[in-house]
Amino acid sequence: MDVTSASTRWRKAMATTTTTETAAGFDLSLTAEQELVQRTARDFAREKVLPRAAEIDEQKKIPRELIDEMARLGFMGIDVPEQYGGSGLDSLTYVLVVEEINRACASTGVVLCTHVSLAIEPILRWGSDAQKEKWLPPLARGESIGCFALSEPASGSDAAAMRTSARRDGDAWLLNGTKNFITNGAIADVAIVFAQTDASLKHKGIAAFVVEKGTK
Ligand SMILES: Cc1cc2nc3c(=O)[nH]c(=O)nc-3n(C[C@H](O)[C@H](O)[C@H](O)COP(=O)(O)OP(=O)(O)OC[C@H]3O[C@@H](n4cnc5c(N)ncnc54)[C@H](O)[C@@H]3O)c2cc1C
Repeated sequence: MDVTSASTRWRKAMATTTTTETAAGFDLSLTAEQELVQRTARDFAREKVLPRAAEIDEQKKIPRELIDEMARLGFMGIDVPEQYGGSGLDSLTYVLVVEEINRACASTGVVLCTHVSLAIEPILRWGSDAQKEKWLPPLARGESIGCFALSEPASGSDAAAMRTSARRDGDAWLLNGTKNFITNGAIADVAIVFAQTDASLKHKGIAAFVVEKGTK
């Protein structure tokens, strides 16, 4: 069995071709830092995740200590700037880490991806400075777990048909609705929740709210 990762195999294959990109000097090699993080993720995946993959599938639950270990290694905030408590690494390094973890257990990988790409990323890209300062440090350190709540019992692919509504109530918003299929939903401390603020605007009326667990 070829135990090299898909990206390593791809780079090797590309290195033996004479495509325009390689001929033009397109650099496919990893930096020393990317290789170090990749090796760290590979060791973690092989030693800590793989031996528990069957148990994770059977119990449908990721052991908290694996999440804590991913946090300790800096993976839970891998591409979050250091000013917000993250590792400040690039997207390729993130992909290398996810690839290694998914090779051992895709369920553990999806917990990480959902947290980083679906919960942290919207705050990082579109959050206000105050939201970034409040939510990103605990998420990046893995002290808080994030999830992304878009799907509903009656709307999946057609997300714009969502029924969850958001109504202004003084300075606050009142959200009313039901979400399902939410990865990390059972363990999340912070959710990015999508809701319709004005049905006449159809998909343009949908807004994303950062909601803390237990908010009433
Ligand atoms: C493992 C897993 C994790 C998930 N995690 C999350 C999460 O974290 N957050 C979240 O919000 N959601 C999550 N989801 C939900 C996921 O986003 C939805 O399942 C997805 O959007 C599809 O919606 P649906 O299941 O209602 O299927 P439907 O939208 O009802 O689709 C059913 C079938 O019809 C097809 N179809 C739909 N529309 C069309 C069309 N117009 N033309 C042709 N074919 C069509 C689809 O391809 C599919 O085969 C998760 C789902 C899974 C399976």
